[in-house]
Amino acid sequence: MDIELNNLLQDTEYFSDTQKCEDLLLKVRWNNEVKCVFCKHHKVYHLQGKNKRYKCAQCLKQFSIIKGTIFKIVPSLCKNGLS
Ligand SMILES: [Zn+2]
Repeated sequence: MDIELNNLLQDTEYFSDTQKCEDLLLKVRWNNEVKCVFCKHHKVYHLQGKNKRYKCAQCLKQFSIIKGTIFKIVPSLCKNGLS
């Protein structure tokens, strides 16, 4: 984890914006390319809805962008309740 990201993670105000939170996760976790968190398949469907969710084209499991991340463990970082 680089210093810039480290500083960013301490800036909880930043994470009060759901879109910024998701954008950052997309960048650091998947390099802007979402992969299935279960089977690592690269083809996923974007599901419509309040919270951004994905469905794998291969194993058909659904997952959220923050599954298995620190943001699941520390919900206060994402104040708007991504789940
Ligand atoms: Zn999958």
